[in-house]
Amino acid sequence: AAKFLRSAQTVPGLSFFRNYSAAAPTTKLFINGKFVESKTTEFLDVHNPATNEVVTRVPKATQDEMLSAVEAAKEALKAWSRASIMARQQVMFKYQQLIKDNIHELAKIITLEQGKTLADAEGDVLRGLQVVEHCCSITSLQLGETLPGIARDIDTHSYRVPLGVCAGIAPFNFPAMIPLWMFPVALVCGNTYIFKPSERVPGCSMLLVEMLKEAGCPDGVVNVIHGQHAAVNFICDNPDIRAISFVGSNSAGEYIYERGSKNGKRVQSNMGAKNHGVVMPDANKESTLTQLVGAAFGAAGQRCMALSTAVFVGEAQKWLPDLVDKAKKLRVNAGHIADADLGPVISPEAKQRICSLVQSGIDEGASCVLDGRNIVVPGYETGNFVGPTILSDVKPNMTCYKEEIFGPVLVTLSVDTLDEAIDVINRNMYGNGTAIFTTNGATARKFTNDIDVGQVGVNVPIPVPLPMFSFTGSRGSFRGDANFYGKAGINFYTQLKTVTQMWREADVTPTHSATAMPV
Ligand code: NAD
Repeated sequence: AAKFLRSAQTVPGLSFFRNYSAAAPTTKLFINGKFVESKTTEFLDVHNPATNEVVTRVPKATQDEMLSAVEAAKEALKAWSRASIMARQQVMFKYQQLIKDNIHELAKIITLEQGKTLADAEGDVLRGLQVVEHCCSITSLQLGETLPGIARDIDTHSYRVPLGVCAGIAPFNFPAMIPLWMFPVALVCGNTYIFKPSERVPGCSMLLVEMLKEAGCPDGVVNVIHGQHAAVNFICDNPDIRAISFVGSNSAGEYIYERGSKNGKRVQSNMGAKNHGVVMPDANKESTLTQLVGAAFGAAGQRCMALSTAVFVGEAQKWLPDLVDKAKKLRVNAGHIADADLGPVISPEAKQRICSLVQSGIDEGASCVLDGRNIVVPGYETGNFVGPTILSDVKPNMTCYKEEIFGPVLVTLSVDTLDEAIDVINRNMYGNGTAIFTTNGATARKFTNDIDVGQVGVNVPIPVPLPMFSFTGSRGSFRGDANFYGKAGINFYTQLKTVTQMWREADVTPTHSATAMPV
C-alpha cells in the first residue's frame, strides 16, 4: 500500500493520503503512463457527500489533451496488441494481487468521494477484483475455433483479435467495480483504452490505473480523461475509438448508444433499473424481510440492482409493519463511521430529487409508512442524508413507481396472485434484475420461466452474476449485443477473424534424399 501513498495529504473528515493530487487539490489526467495536470480553466468540484466539503477538483480535459490520450493509445496499440497473450495475462496476475493488497485504501477513497460505508466500499472493490481475476484465464477465454479438412487440403481457423483503441464511460455509484468491468477486459484482449470516470468519483480510478502501471502495463495502454458532455461527445465521435462501454442512466446511455453506433462503433450500454422483489406468503418471513431491507436500503439505494420495489402477494402484505420495524433499526451515518448501515446520497440535488419523488407518491395517493426525509445525522448536519423510507399502496401509474428513485426508498405494491406480480414486472420498462422469495420450487420455476428480466434471483435479493457468467440486464436496462464481462465481455472486446488455408499434400517437401544414381 505504501507505494501508492507516498505524498501525504490529510483530507478533512477522513484521514488518508493521496499522491496524485498532493500539490494542489486537483485530480490529474493519466496520459501515456504519466499523471499530468490539465491545462483547462474549467473544473468541477468533488464533494464528500457526508459533509459537502470539497475533496478535489476535476478538470474538464481540453480537446488537445483528449486527442493526446488517443494518440498515446494508438501508439501503444502497436506493441500491446502483438504482445504475447501470456505477457498480458502476467499483468493481470500482478494486478489482481495489487488490488487485493490495497483494498482498504481503495475503499477509503470510495467512501470519501461516494459516501457508501467502508464495508460496502470493500465489496465494491471485491466485485471488480473478481473480474480482474477472471481476466487471468484469458488464455482459455480468447481461444478461437478450428475445423480441419473443410475441403481437400483446406483448414479454417477463427481467431478472436483485439478491436483497437476502446473507451469506457462510468457512473458514480460503483467507483471500483464498474471501471474494472471495463478496461481490464479490454486490455487483456489486446486493446488499448481511453477511460472517463464519473466526474463525481474520480479518485478510485486514479489509484486503479496507478496500480495497473505498477503491475507492468506499458505506458499509453490505458489513459484517463476527465469531463462531462464534451468528453463523452469526444469519445462518441473520435474516429480512432472502435468501441464504447457505458454504464449509467438511461438518458446518457441511450444518447451514447445512438451517437456512438451512428459513428460505426460497437457500443454496450448498461442503464437504469426498477428491480422488483416478489414476496410470496409461503416465503421464510424473517430471512425475506432481512434481505429486502438490505437490498432496498444498502448503499443508500444507489445500486442499479437495489430492490427498490416490493410486490407482496396475498397474505404477505400483512408483513409490512414488520418490514418497517426492521428498516427503522438501520443506522444512518457517514460511511467511515464503524457501525453505519447506510451513508449519504451523492449530492444535495440527488437528495432533493429523491424527496420530491417521495412527495409525488404521497400526493398521488400512496402512504408514507416510514419517512426518512428529515433525518439529521449528529456531527454531519451538512451531509446529504436520507433515512430509509417506505411508501405503501403504490400503483403502477404513480410517478414514484415509474421513475428510478435511486435512493433509500422502497415502494411497495400489493397483488392477489403470482400471475399479477409477473404481469406488473413484465410491463415495467426496465429489465435489470428481480427476485422472488418463496419456499415452493414450483412457484420459483414458474416465476423464472415467465419473467422477462435479465437477472433473476430465487431467495437471492441482488442476483449479480460472478464473471464466469455475464451481467445480463435486459429490455430498457440495456442497449447492445454483448453484455459486460464473462464470455460476452470477451466477445465485446474482440472481433472474429477467420483464416482459410490450403496446403496441398502433394507439395510436402521431400525429406528423404535420393542416393541412387539418377537414370
Ligand atoms: P449518469 O448517466 O448521470 O452518468 C454516467 C456517465 O455519463 C458519467 O460519466 C457522466 O459524465 C456521463 N453523463 C451524464 N449525463 C450525460 C449526458 N446527458 N450526456 C452524456 N454523458 C452524460 O449516471 P450516474 O448518475 O452516474 O449513475 C446512476 C445511474 O447508473 C442509475 O440510473 C443506475 O441505475 C445506473 N447504473 C446502471 C448499472 C447497470 O449495470 N445497469 C450499474 C450502475 C449504475
